[in-house]
Amino acid sequence: MRIVIVGAGIVGVTTAYELALQGHEVTVYERRGSVASEASFANGGLLAPGLVAPSAAPGMPWQVARQLFGSHARLRPGGIDALAQLPWLWRWWRASRARVHGPNRMAMHRLAQFSAARMQELTRCLNLEFEQTPGVVMLLRGERELKAVQGSLALLRDWGVPHHVVDAARCRELEPGLNEGTSLHAAVHLPQDGAGNCRQFAHLLKAEAQRLGARFRFHTAARALGAGTAPTVALDNGVTVPCDAVVVCAGVSARTLLAGVGVRLPLAAVHGTSVTAPLRHLDGLDAPGPRGALTDERHQIAITRLGHRVRVTGGAEIGGEPSRLEPAALRRLYRVLDDWFPGAVLAREAQHWKGAQPMLPDGPPVLGESGAPGIWVNLGHGASGWALACGSARVLTERLSGRDAPLDMAGLTVARLRG
Ligand SMILES: Cc1cc2nc3c(=O)[nH]c(=O)nc-3n(C[C@H](O)[C@H](O)[C@H](O)COP(=O)(O)OP(=O)(O)OC[C@H]3O[C@@H](n4cnc5c(N)ncnc54)[C@H](O)[C@@H]3O)c2cc1C
Repeated sequence: MRIVIVGAGIVGVTTAYELALQGHEVTVYERRGSVASEASFANGGLLAPGLVAPSAAPGMPWQVARQLFGSHARLRPGGIDALAQLPWLWRWWRASRARVHGPNRMAMHRLAQFSAARMQELTRCLNLEFEQTPGVVMLLRGERELKAVQGSLALLRDWGVPHHVVDAARCRELEPGLNEGTSLHAAVHLPQDGAGNCRQFAHLLKAEAQRLGARFRFHTAARALGAGTAPTVALDNGVTVPCDAVVVCAGVSARTLLAGVGVRLPLAAVHGTSVTAPLRHLDGLDAPGPRGALTDERHQIAITRLGHRVRVTGGAEIGGEPSRLEPAALRRLYRVLDDWFPGAVLAREAQHWKGAQPMLPDGPPVLGESGAPGIWVNLGHGASGWALACGSARVLTERLSGRDAPLDMAGLTVARLRG
């Protein structure tokens, strides 16, 4: 089949690779100059199927409401624009009910496990190196945090995800650079989860997709889609491309493109921020920064080692200006990093970045037929798109090639968002 993919973030690149591997004729149109230039550019790097979950969870709306304007706010309204997101927030609030959250979390977990297995396979077969580190440590500052993770620990036990609750001493053995002066109650160690550089992986997989014949066309935006038995993509250079199927992997911008063919998806941009800085060298040695990936559960911040650099990510801003970095969000990242690894990085060489997580209100992405003939979607991976990309691409490819999905698709198709 001749397949056009719109968008070359991590989701578009993995999809291009899988489709090309199955012998399809693939062309990817990307409005930016390179792959992974938007949400996939400098994300937290966590590959943690054990932690993948919808942001809408029981108790979360009230927690968010309480913290909304505090200095440790997890979710901030991005100014007056946030009002436009009220319908989305309403759906998010309804999805936080236990009976809706449970199946959604399960669906995301299934996909995350499948995705991790596919990524491992690709990494091994293609010999990919992308600054991987093994293991994730969830730092629990106090009894309150330990109590808050009990529900998740019960699920990890049920699902057979290897994990250990460890005391502060054991945690400091795992991460010897942790500041002795910062109080730590306990931690959860997930030895089979990990982290890696999403952007680097996207570049490597793009090269592999090209080897299989996939074509990437940069600085070329899709302006409109045409649905039907002979679908089309109208480009901003005036050309209209005919094909057998279109796969929309355009992140948050997909909403407008899909509305043009009558598909309305409640996709919202939830902005997060990251700081990436080189490790400080002391007497020619790296300072004792993090060895692997950690999360600070109180502040909902991830700290990841990426080669000789450290990345700190966090925050969730609804609405707001995509290009405006919030000083408060940056201060929070620096404060938490300095709390755990004081002086570990060269802050003056840090890169600051803000990205838009393409998020559906109930959590899981949508994979497969969009509802408009000939138009397929691989969208809405929210805060876990890196962890879910390889599996989502594989699922989409199997369905588009006319085969059964390799996992239970309950909760992963657009059908759940209709009505
Ligand atoms: C701060 C932050 C931290 C995160 N941390 C993690 C993490 O630790 N682990 C994890 O798993 N996930 C994480 N995520 C989420 C993850 O980064 C995203 O879910 C993922 O990158 C989404 O990938 P995507 O390909 O769907 O979107 P994008 O990477 O945004 O790609 C979409 C692409 O489509 C292109 N495009 C859009 N419209 C058009 C058009 N009309 N024509 C042509 N091209 C178009 C865009 O230019 C873009 O390149 C994080 C996100 C953020 C912001």
